Amino acid sequence: MISPPASVDGFVKQFLANLNFDQGVSLSASDANDQYLALAGTVRDYLMARWLEDQTRQREQQAKTVCYLSAEYLLGKQLDNNLLAARLGEIATDALEQCGISMDDMREVEVEPGLGNGGLGRLAACFIDSLATMSVPTIGYGIRYEYGIFRQTFVDGQQVEQPDAWLRMGSPWEFPHPEAAQTISFGGRTETYDDEGVTRTRWIPDWNVLAVPYNMMVPGYHNGRVNTLRLWRAAATNAFDLRIFNSGDYEESVRAQTFAENISKVLYPEDSTPQGKELRLQQQYFFVAASINDFLDRVLPEGFDLEKLPDRVIFQLNDTHPVIGVPELMRVLVDERGMEWEDAWAITQKCFAYTCHTLLPEALEVWSVDLLGRLLPRHLEIIYRINDDFLEEVREKFGDDMMRIRNMSIIGEHPYRSVRMAYLATVAGAKVNGVAELHSQLLRDKVLHEFAEMYPDKFTNVTNGVTPRRFIRLANPSLASLITEALGAGWTVDLERLRGLEALAEDPEFRERFAAVKAGNKRRLSDVLERRDGVTIDDNHLLDVMVKRLHEYKRQTLKVLHIVTEYESIISGKVAAADIQPRTFIFGAKAAPGYAMAKRIIHLINSVASVVNNDPRVEGRLKVVFPPNYNVTLAESIIPAADLSEQISLAGKEASGTGNMKLALNGALTIGTDDGANVEIRQLVGDDNFFLFGMSEPEVEALWAKGYKPADFYQADPQLRAAMDLIASGAFSGGDRTVFEPVVSNLLYDDRFMVLADYASYIEAQKRVDLAYADQDAWTRSAILNIARSGFFSSDRSMRDYLDRIWHARPLL
Ligand SMILES: *Cc1c(COP(=O)(O)O)cnc(C)c1O
Repeated sequence: MISPPASVDGFVKQFLANLNFDQGVSLSASDANDQYLALAGTVRDYLMARWLEDQTRQREQQAKTVCYLSAEYLLGKQLDNNLLAARLGEIATDALEQCGISMDDMREVEVEPGLGNGGLGRLAACFIDSLATMSVPTIGYGIRYEYGIFRQTFVDGQQVEQPDAWLRMGSPWEFPHPEAAQTISFGGRTETYDDEGVTRTRWIPDWNVLAVPYNMMVPGYHNGRVNTLRLWRAAATNAFDLRIFNSGDYEESVRAQTFAENISKVLYPEDSTPQGKELRLQQQYFFVAASINDFLDRVLPEGFDLEKLPDRVIFQLNDTHPVIGVPELMRVLVDERGMEWEDAWAITQKCFAYTCHTLLPEALEVWSVDLLGRLLPRHLEIIYRINDDFLEEVREKFGDDMMRIRNMSIIGEHPYRSVRMAYLATVAGAKVNGVAELHSQLLRDKVLHEFAEMYPDKFTNVTNGVTPRRFIRLANPSLASLITEALGAGWTVDLERLRGLEALAEDPEFRERFAAVKAGNKRRLSDVLERRDGVTIDDNHLLDVMVKRLHEYKRQTLKVLHIVTEYESIISGKVAAADIQPRTFIFGAKAAPGYAMAKRIIHLINSVASVVNNDPRVEGRLKVVFPPNYNVTLAESIIPAADLSEQISLAGKEASGTGNMKLALNGALTIGTDDGANVEIRQLVGDDNFFLFGMSEPEVEALWAKGYKPADFYQADPQLRAAMDLIASGAFSGGDRTVFEPVVSNLLYDDRFMVLADYASYIEAQKRVDLAYADQDAWTRSAILNIARSGFFSSDRSMRDYLDRIWHARPLL
């Protein structure tokens, strides 16, 4: 049953009641934050009946549940998404208007929960949206970080991180449930004991923390369904020692509390630094143990026969962060529930599946045996036993091949003894998937090829996707209206229907309307940036967008070299500014705080921006804009306005990308390498509507094997030399040659990501872009075709693939 749509009057009444009784203020005395909290409370109230119903229904039906385990959820703002899902947008807007409040002000007040770093966390958020929309019983499990991804500011062009105190003004979308807390143990030792003639092991831990669940609603789009996202906060089991307090040592009396709360204090800003590693392992075990035990103790009915566990649950591991759940489930089944090892292992192997998200060897997580043994001694024993059994299996299958056994062992020996979490996940998981066709193939052929030989059926692909609700409906309302007018409303949950736009791409009137939508989105972005950062975007500029985390493999430096090449050609008089296609380059990128090279590249981009934007010789035809703090909210403004999508990673390094999908679905044309999901985008949209450049993955491998000598490329190409020399000369650093020397010499002598090898091809492709953009009508046609042919990249389709290939779960009736 779907609760009846609220009337405007009903909404006003409920809103005012919430303002008075929850916020404790009258309308006339309330400020915007009070109003926002009351509004959120009202939306929540309308969703509540459905949420409770769904929980009952899921209990009754005992359907197989997808437990998505992810250390990150990059949710973005909740208000609009929940209004859209519940069909309350118009009613709420009218109701607020009656109270003299503007919905736009409410949108401004909301802060997004940035509980993720980038693509991986945003993927989790898209997936739970799709699962709710498809009525699949799902619990998203994760961590309620008190501080999410840092807020990025620039000081003299350099990144400075500010803490993200997203909870400070109240957090209306979550429901704490202290009564459902789990106790999570750490440290100590193990011992064996005799249990009526059977030798068993028990763990005698040293210390505990409480895991307190905070539930958030995950409403499906227009289907009356509401799933749950359950995020765990750490708290002390004994918050406070009154005896110590009374003796006068106030600090010591709260020490335990501070210590425990540290576990969910901050999101790790990508693990490029070793410090705090131990806390990260604590976080992982904390949330995974809480989640698995929550499911076993509280979601399953009492007395559930655990032999049937694989029929009731699949724990999907979003990368290796939750892999410690494998020995945890084994520990619970064997030590606590008295199951035989072999039976428990058979069950465990059916209950987990693993998604790998990387191709970079340094990103494959390992934990030192020393640390893991200290923190989780019983789990280490279990991992050793799993490994012994597994290596025995390897011997049976391949003989006593020491090399192979060393390579495949879950325990690595160099440079220190460690647990290879990706291998553990691969051995334990029912399925292992990559996130784009090319990525899955490289996993099978390279990163995990010995495992693929051993378990060929385990390996599969599910190409990533993005939710069309957030990234088209909400982010690009004028495009959404245009599509609905053309195709009817069904496309929002059946994105393949966008195919219907192919014919309309040939209709001049439709093209004109599409071009007007794009122009409107550029103006909207310009307004947002003006308010936010005091910069504007010119109407007649091609909008060239590179938004994603700052990482060397993503090659923001290649983009910089293109800009500097254009700039150099103007100031050296090779090209008249008036002959250049006007372009605005937009960057959005955070660097991990400990990643020095990435931060230097940010500094370089900002420095190039300030020189290029202020040089009168450029005549305003090139503009570089780098708004700080790229996040989901900013993405929702930038992406709909983009003409050109920069997806320029070195082939074989980007697992999939999802920014590429969001941009194609909003009618940006891609300039990209044959990498990640770019490959599939190009296949779908067609070569005529995609600017391909650069080496293919096999070409990269061949050049690497032959010996990559970047200086040869530098010497051979005068244009490249001029651009590099201009940076090295200090032209962007007030004459100081030392500032960007590390960037330049990295590219020249030590670049694993082969920027200079792809430079010429990239510049040539950018020339094709300029030529194509000169024919506005043809460009618009290509943009429409990009949208029409990108329906495949809906996360609804990704979810169908997971359901069919991995989870074997079904939507709820
Ligand atoms: C989609 C998204 C990403 C991922 O971008 P890629 O280009 O795929 O790396 C990162 N951050 C935010 C805020 C996003 O919305």
